[in-house]
Amino acid sequence: MYIVNILKKESKIEGYGVFAGEFIPKGTIVYFYGENEPFISKERFLSLSDDEKNLFYQYGVEDEAGNRLMKVDNINHSCDSSILSLFVDGIYCDIAVKDINPGEEMTIDYGLFFSSFPWSKECRCNSPICRKIFGSGLAVERETQNMWHSRILEAAARILDVKQNLFSLEDANARALTAALESKQNPEIFPYVKFSLIS
Ligand SMILES: [Zn+2]
Repeated sequence: MYIVNILKKESKIEGYGVFAGEFIPKGTIVYFYGENEPFISKERFLSLSDDEKNLFYQYGVEDEAGNRLMKVDNINHSCDSSILSLFVDGIYCDIAVKDINPGEEMTIDYGLFFSSFPWSKECRCNSPICRKIFGSGLAVERETQNMWHSRILEAAARILDVKQNLFSLEDANARALTAALESKQNPEIFPYVKFSLIS
């Protein structure tokens, strides 16, 4: 769930997008997967119909063990995105890797999502570092991997310096995530690398 103010409205990138409803400084955890959000085990996922599986391909996030999270939001992809994803102690979250101004469309890099069923689409994000194709489960250049790595580390280094709505939530996953983030002073040990396609 988003834990910053957002607006959903028509996007210049594609369809509807997610826009910042307030100033969101770099290092803010903007989204986390709450304890009551649907979690589908790998076994259950494999037993679903093709139509149901397609929903997960479109909106799902797969963890390293092949379990699925249903992340239904309209956030668009950019190869130069303002937020990036990570797992901290197995809990999914998104972190702002740039300062995001009120009214600005927020974007994420779909390429960072692991997928055992790779898919791709032509990209029109128009950023100078556009990879021309985006999707999940695709091999990416070492340069892109290094960029994700350094952007996440830079943002993670500011986690304790910016206001985190996450830290005051009662949700069990929020509390576990808070404890993990507060205890890990060195962002190098965040295990997000396993979640990406970095091999
Ligand atoms: Zn692009």
